[in-house]
Amino acid sequence: MEQELRQLQAEAESKLPSLENLEELEEIRVQYLGRKGLFTGLLRQLGQVSAEDRPRLGKLANEIKNELELKFNARKSELSGIGAGTVAEKDDLSLPGRRVPFGRLHPVTQIMDEVCAIFIDLGFAVAEGPDIELDYYNFEALNIPQHHPARDMHDTFYISDSILLRTHTSPMQIRAMEKEKPPLRIIAPGKVYRCDSDITHTPMFHQVEGFLVDHKVSFADLKGVLTVFCQKMFDQKDIRLRFRPSFFPFTEPSAEVDIGCVICRGEGCRVCKQTGWLEILGAGMIDPEVLKMVDYDPEEFTGFAFGLGIERIAMLKYGIDDIRLFYENDIRFLNQF
Ligand SMILES: [Zn+2]
Repeated sequence: MEQELRQLQAEAESKLPSLENLEELEEIRVQYLGRKGLFTGLLRQLGQVSAEDRPRLGKLANEIKNELELKFNARKSELSGIGAGTVAEKDDLSLPGRRVPFGRLHPVTQIMDEVCAIFIDLGFAVAEGPDIELDYYNFEALNIPQHHPARDMHDTFYISDSILLRTHTSPMQIRAMEKEKPPLRIIAPGKVYRCDSDITHTPMFHQVEGFLVDHKVSFADLKGVLTVFCQKMFDQKDIRLRFRPSFFPFTEPSAEVDIGCVICRGEGCRVCKQTGWLEILGAGMIDPEVLKMVDYDPEEFTGFAFGLGIERIAMLKYGIDDIRLFYENDIRFLNQF
């Protein structure tokens, strides 16, 4: 009896690999494990074996039956293509591939690159400096000594008494001039930090600083360079610029620069608050005191400097009215650029 059981098992198992489809498999399954199958027939004969052997043989018969069922199920999965079938069985190679979504540059990065590209075309070199800056470079060397009222204009994140997060990109003027002698034409893009937050301010934002030092550099040169920049940036050949007197400790004279409103072209609208003008950057001639700090002779050399906010430019260019949108990481907003 035991031998017959094992023989039946071996026979059934040997047939499994050559089966080619589910119908054939089912046929074999019924033949062995079906109600009128060979295996069942054998089990019925259990009643005829001695009472002594019956429990052991009954147990063995059940084990073999279970094993066979597992093997039939495994083969069934294979033939259905669920298990380790071939490529042809489970994949449709004629289907189009899955598209990998493209990432893109953040709008602030795009504008930053655009600004840099325009100045590189004008012969400026790009220089980058540290976000964590010494008080000396951020204030002192830029003619903003301790207790100077101009320091109130900056809400500074201090790390220690002499170390801070830079509040503007202007420290790069000093760092670059310390290293090199004129002529210098440099732009310094980067992050700056101020303790400030509302719809037009974020604690971290981006600036581009630009400066040029050489013999006989005049305010006319500054005006020329900024005019070309604005024409290219806003893609308007006839763009109008307006220089308003202002004050910065490290430039003299200093000016706020406005452009004719790019939205209404000077007619007056909500963005320009009906004035027809948009404030776009600060600029001026580098203060002789700053040139002295880096051992340049102010009698021999003059220079101009300007600083502009990247987010501000992006907001004007794209008509965005809340600066915080740039940093909310909302894909519906970012997808538009
Ligand atoms: Zn306007």
